Amino acid sequence: MRDIPVLIVSSEIEGFAKTGGLADVSSALPKELRKQGVDARAIMPMYRTTRTYIKKMNCHITTSYDIAVPVGSELKQGKLHECFFNDAMFYFIENDEYFDRNGIYGEDDRDYPDNLQRFTFFNRAVLEGCKLLNWKPELFHCMDWYTALIPIYLKTVYLHDLYFTGCTTVFTIHNIAFQGIFYPDEIKITGLDHTLYSMEKLEFFSKINLMKGAIVYSTLITTVSRTYAHEIQTSEHGFGLQDVLHERSNDVHGIVNGIDYQLWNPEHDAYLEQDGFTADSIEKKEECKKALLRECGLSYTQGIPLISFIGRFSHQRGIDIIIEALPTMIRENVQCIILGTGDSVTEKRLQCLAEQFPENICLRMEFNEGLAHRIIAGSDMFLMPSRFEPCGLTQLYSLRYGTIPIVHHTGGLVDTVFDYATKDAQPDTVNGFSFKGFSIHDLLEALQRAVAVYRNEPEEWKHLMLNSMRHDWSWAASAQKYIAVYKKAMQKHR
Ligand code: ADP
Repeated sequence: MRDIPVLIVSSEIEGFAKTGGLADVSSALPKELRKQGVDARAIMPMYRTTRTYIKKMNCHITTSYDIAVPVGSELKQGKLHECFFNDAMFYFIENDEYFDRNGIYGEDDRDYPDNLQRFTFFNRAVLEGCKLLNWKPELFHCMDWYTALIPIYLKTVYLHDLYFTGCTTVFTIHNIAFQGIFYPDEIKITGLDHTLYSMEKLEFFSKINLMKGAIVYSTLITTVSRTYAHEIQTSEHGFGLQDVLHERSNDVHGIVNGIDYQLWNPEHDAYLEQDGFTADSIEKKEECKKALLRECGLSYTQGIPLISFIGRFSHQRGIDIIIEALPTMIRENVQCIILGTGDSVTEKRLQCLAEQFPENICLRMEFNEGLAHRIIAGSDMFLMPSRFEPCGLTQLYSLRYGTIPIVHHTGGLVDTVFDYATKDAQPDTVNGFSFKGFSIHDLLEALQRAVAVYRNEPEEWKHLMLNSMRHDWSWAASAQKYIAVYKKAMQKHR
């Protein structure tokens, strides 16, 4: 793979725009691929926040190109910016009509109504941009439905374009719940021929489905954990795409995400005010806990476990069962910090609970990267009762910081969290607590098991922390697996 040009196409990249784990992956993967000798570059839209971050980070745009691409019947103008930053090449696609807005995908819990126009523009501009740059990626690695048009275009509109001869595609599903579904007549916005509106291609329950198109047209498909790769081929987790995926099951690979060891490093974490810690100085973690409790307005008492949650307050994340379980949890004499945002009803319910238990619960409804780091560092346990979980990153961050995860046994959580109950069979691997049924009762039972070990068996707890901190969660191994998939895609294509 040495010097093989790979373009990672994503709708968000950590540092430039982020709503979730996709951004973390899109920034860490190209970094690691470059370390391993791949000429990996990344491209994303220039959102309003991206422009601010570029300025703030002193990341200089070296060259800009004018770009014009068809969206529906109009020719839309924009720019492609090239920027070398942190030893990596980034490209940004600008069009202020589409991207100079407060949100990334929408505002006030609503998707933007012109998302198909916005991402048609982006996808097409990526392909036209490669020609302007005179740089030909051998492989386009596309992330989620926002970039699904690229594998479709390369096999249709651009099929006979000699510039792209030999190019291959890998499509990664980060979350199959979001598929890019639109009305059939909107296909004209994309410039695709209406004959693609067929059951074998983009048609999906009388609508067009861009993720389905990418599954059909990509050379290979990956998703972000081995268990999720199996789960999305079942009716329980496939969100209607299980049969399309099953049809291509030999081409579906599960690669668990790594974490960026520079950003998430308990020893040197830029967001911690006090000294960090390692597995060899794990006692210093208690200082992080004290500082965190101070920051969150909760008092510190030795021996009271601090349990946290970070993330979207969504049905997927099981926020409803957390809310139901919270009063019982509090009676176990634990403290809780909850960081995230969600719909107004859920936020209100959480607010009521926080007001009811001001000594035990701190609720912060915001997106706050620094606080997220301090919560991961200072908490004893991390709660992740997701109904489904493609990979999950916060449990990996927690493990790296010796914060013990309590999770529902699903998707990437199966591949990364190994229950304490199996300690006799795998003493060096156990690192958390998981529950198989999905109910408040199951969640509470796992939580009570965790609290009991924390309170009564400090040596065992320390053992769990050391197991979790000593495991290699870095991107190196995952990037190697992606390289193997890239090689397979290129061979398949020949
Ligand atoms: P998602 O499904 O939302 O992508 P992941 O677990 O894969 O979930 O990744 C979530 C990422 O977003 C993590 O880096 C997490 O720390 C971060 N995150 C989520 N909500 C918040 C928040 N309110 N404040 C700060 N960071 C957050």
